[in-house]
Amino acid sequence: MILVDGKKTSQDIKNEIAARVAEIKTEGGKTPHLAAILVGNDGASQTYVGAKVKACHEIGFESTLVRLEETVSEEELLKVVDDINQNPDIDGLIVQLPLPRHISVEKVTNKIKPEKDVDGFTPANVGRMTLNWPAYVAATPYGIVELLKRYEIETSGKHCVVIGRSHIVGSPMSILMARNGNPGNATVTLTHSRTQNLKEITKTADILIVAIGKPEFVTADMVKEGAVVIDVGIHRVEDSSKKSGFRLIGDVKFDEVSQKASAITPVPGGVGPMTIASLLYNTLQAAEKKIYQ
Ligand code: NAP
Repeated sequence: MILVDGKKTSQDIKNEIAARVAEIKTEGGKTPHLAAILVGNDGASQTYVGAKVKACHEIGFESTLVRLEETVSEEELLKVVDDINQNPDIDGLIVQLPLPRHISVEKVTNKIKPEKDVDGFTPANVGRMTLNWPAYVAATPYGIVELLKRYEIETSGKHCVVIGRSHIVGSPMSILMARNGNPGNATVTLTHSRTQNLKEITKTADILIVAIGKPEFVTADMVKEGAVVIDVGIHRVEDSSKKSGFRLIGDVKFDEVSQKASAITPVPGGVGPMTIASLLYNTLQAAEKKIYQ
């Protein structure tokens, strides 16, 4: 069984990006610059944005964190997005979700200039990805594609079952696995809460990608012998034996499924660490104008 190590792979990617940034600086080019907008004081959001800013510094990017009050109006937030859209020094922009209820996520997302949309959430980038054009692909699906590629996991002609159809994970994942490319060329079944006989379907998967958001939902009896299993879920469960008082588990019952899988991502240390690496890679691409010339 191959343990697909997202921690190591993400570090490899960060090292590659850092080397490219050093090269750009030596050539007298502009340092890639990521801006993040954080609205309110949500603890998890602060942690996520903090980790992204820290990663920028580690690899030599510039970063700008714009913090706005929970009470900021939609109009004011749209104005901040627009100012960043117009700022030639900033290459990439992310707006940390969730936003307060009085603000429309659709309006804010749609305001981000596609050329700076390094989260890959705008309709322009989702459309381009669907058309198999150069696009910024959302960080989590992109990270999974990169893991499959770097571990040389064959996807062509395989049956890939995706559990979950969210806009940020399941749906883009199904498009990427089905498209004509490598990784890709899989025959894809996208499942969701209305799917009937889920177990019968997952048992036929050569590659099973799980983004359901339910702790240890996928058990060994749902998995074919020799399948590749990618676990996107992250859940905190209490664990008094840990100093922190909790441990992380995924959407897959790792201990039993890993006995059957030919390759599997652990939680933590699988898909999770790849997300920030993908965001940094998208930002480098934005700085080098690789997607939109
Ligand atoms: P989400 O928006 O809650 O979507 C969950 C999906 O699972 C929905 O499409 C839902 O179907 C489907 N579903 C629910 N119950 C089901 C069932 N019994 N059978 C089949 N499908 C079912 O979740 P998400 O944002 O995609 O995230 C999924 C998990 O990944 C979460 O644990 C999240 O924390 C984690 N995550 C991790 C990362 C990372 O960096 N590693 C990034 C993003 C998310 P319906 O559409 O019909 O409701």
